Amino acid sequence: MLSVGKILVTRSLPGSALEHLRERGYRVEVHEGLFLSREDLLKKVEGAIGLIPTVEDRVDAEVMDRAPGLKVIACYSVGVDHVDLEAAKARGIRVTHTPGVLTEATADLTLALLLAVARRVAEGVDYARKGLWQAWHPELLLGMDLEGATLGIVGMGRIGQAVAKRAEAFGMRVVYTGRTPKPLPYPYLSLEALLATSDIVSLHTPLTLETHRLMNRERLFAMKPGSILINTARGGLVDTEALVEALRGHLFGAGLDVTDPEPLPRGHPLYALPNAVITPHIGSAGRRTRERMAEMAVENLLAVLEGREPPNPVV
Ligand code: NAP
Repeated sequence: MLSVGKILVTRSLPGSALEHLRERGYRVEVHEGLFLSREDLLKKVEGAIGLIPTVEDRVDAEVMDRAPGLKVIACYSVGVDHVDLEAAKARGIRVTHTPGVLTEATADLTLALLLAVARRVAEGVDYARKGLWQAWHPELLLGMDLEGATLGIVGMGRIGQAVAKRAEAFGMRVVYTGRTPKPLPYPYLSLEALLATSDIVSLHTPLTLETHRLMNRERLFAMKPGSILINTARGGLVDTEALVEALRGHLFGAGLDVTDPEPLPRGHPLYALPNAVITPHIGSAGRRTRERMAEMAVENLLAVLEGREPPNPVV
């Protein structure tokens, strides 16, 4: 079949969604492997009319200008902070994302981190594995009780609300902050009031110019002494250096699925802190979720290439 255009997919994707593109005659170039260097991205994107990038790929004006025929950037994520949206708009390139399908999986991982930090699960696993477990003791690895604890959600969107639902099942009291109050059965507080009253603060806003370093030194130290920070949104929301300091006495712990920088380099001080539980950006990593994200990215991409409005547009 004669190719009707090249689509660059920057990592292999689970499931069979890419077959839909091949069946329609597109030449699908999938980069195999864990890393795609900047240099390789710039080279591989040449001649593409469609691009499916992951959160690892910085898609800026330089990348777009390497592919003058590029019509659509179909992000394999709900977050789009890795794409220069203004540059895309200026070039008439559509940008789409995958909202909704990853909400439940990401909320699950948020609870997993919350439980791991509050009940010191990672420390406990380490303790047992190292052969230190020699007796039961009433004061061994005491953690935070969740029932009755206040969970402060920053950014009460899809994932924030899914986390709230789960927290309620654990008997937690939910409060939230965001740009505007919503018709929800939880108290809406200012960010300052939320930080001062929450036992656990969980971040769920997108990373934008406004939210960059939202949790700066001042705000981290404005959290209640002995409280917990969870971040499954974006690393750039938190001042990492200040967080390391806060974890050395002020906070009980932190659960981080995302970091700044990301990945966190080997030997980073956060890895040495027993009260920091870090996962490698696996918020949406349920198999079915990742398959559905691929289907959604392909649907969005095809819609643009076939002259239809994409179901999940950003630009
Ligand atoms: P969403 O439904 O758009 O919710 C985002 C919420 O943040 C909205 O309630 C929004 O308020 C609020 N918000 C936006 N800007 C704000 C600001 N400046 N100050 C305070 N609140 C602000 O998005 P979502 O689907 O829940 O996803 C949230 C983020 O999670 C994504 O952007 C992505 O970066 C991250 N994420 C991470 C993973 C992972 O693998 N770890 C997976 C999925 C998503 P309004 O309601 O007023 O707009």
